[in-house]
Amino acid sequence: MKKVVSTILLVALCLSGSLFIRPANNMEAKSEIDQLRDQLKKLQQEQSQIEKQKDSISNEIDSLLSKKSSMDEELHVTNEQINVYEKIVDNIKKQIAVKEAEIEELQAEHDEYVRKFQQRARESYERGETSYLSMIVGSEDISQMMAKIDLMKQVSEYENTLLAKIEEDAKAVKELKAELDAQKAEQQKHLNDLESAKQRQRSTMNNIQSAISTLESNQESLAAQQKKYEEMEAELDKKISQLASSSGQYSGDELIWPVPGYSSISSGYGYREFDNAFHYGIDIPAAKGTPIVAVEKGTIIYAKWVTTGGGMKIVIDHGSGLVTNYNHLSGFAVSSGQTVSKGQVIGYVGSTGFSTGNHLDFRIIHNGSFYNPTDYINPSNSKPKKSIKDLIG
Ligand SMILES: [Zn+2]
Repeated sequence: MKKVVSTILLVALCLSGSLFIRPANNMEAKSEIDQLRDQLKKLQQEQSQIEKQKDSISNEIDSLLSKKSSMDEELHVTNEQINVYEKIVDNIKKQIAVKEAEIEELQAEHDEYVRKFQQRARESYERGETSYLSMIVGSEDISQMMAKIDLMKQVSEYENTLLAKIEEDAKAVKELKAELDAQKAEQQKHLNDLESAKQRQRSTMNNIQSAISTLESNQESLAAQQKKYEEMEAELDKKISQLASSSGQYSGDELIWPVPGYSSISSGYGYREFDNAFHYGIDIPAAKGTPIVAVEKGTIIYAKWVTTGGGMKIVIDHGSGLVTNYNHLSGFAVSSGQTVSKGQVIGYVGSTGFSTGNHLDFRIIHNGSFYNPTDYINPSNSKPKKSIKDLIG
């Protein structure tokens, strides 16, 4: 790793040196190199720090999302319980209404009975039949008198019994109603408890949601930083391709497709609306571990882990300033400095670096400019839209 890092550093430094810095002497050059080496080291540390932060935020969001979904479940259960209790309370209310109607009916019956009794008494008084004396005096003989008294007694006993029964019924219904009222109060209490539980669960949900939003905005700003690093990586790759122009003449043919057996493109070359960024390559999704082949013979400029986004990355120099690069690998089959033949397996598909799934991000660079790979390669390796030889000129 260290050796590889210093190789790429040297490449970067040579470029920086040749392109931007024109040291007057060797001593100056050496101090420039040391300075750049320090800057690059710092940059790499920053980038791995961002990766760590992103990972930890991602984990936090995942755990909050799982909390949120269990809260969702709880809230759902509470709502179902509330529905059940609401039905119970409704049912009790209906029963109470029935009992109240019964009480009213019995009360009316009782009142009516009392009213009729008073009316009879009044009529009998008006007819002068109010007292035992008048009853006795009015009788023709003793047996008639006795019969009258007995009848009166019976009538009064019957009336008393009837009245007592009505009162007893009314009392029983009232007791039942009181019982129902108590039941209703108890169920209503359950209902109130559930409602306040629901409020608590809702506010917990809201807290979780706002925590997620905060983390998401943190993630967005980190993603913006990552985008900057990706641009820096692309800049470095351009410089490398400029360097490659002095490494020999291109002697290859048309390029071949880098992931045999996988032909789809999940993200093409050019401006991407979803992240408002320019995509310098094409993304070819494939299973992790799928072999990746060299699109033409060349020399491996580097096969190393870059922290600027590419993850495990291979850059091949094909000569005449033509460079291809292969990003987000899960493993290498070659090492820096090695020469490779066309179609040779150089590494394996993965999702390292700034990547959300297993795919190869393949790029073509010539003399410091990126080109749309789909102009020069296709999955069936048939005649390309444009010839790579025309590009090299
Ligand atoms: Zn890509």
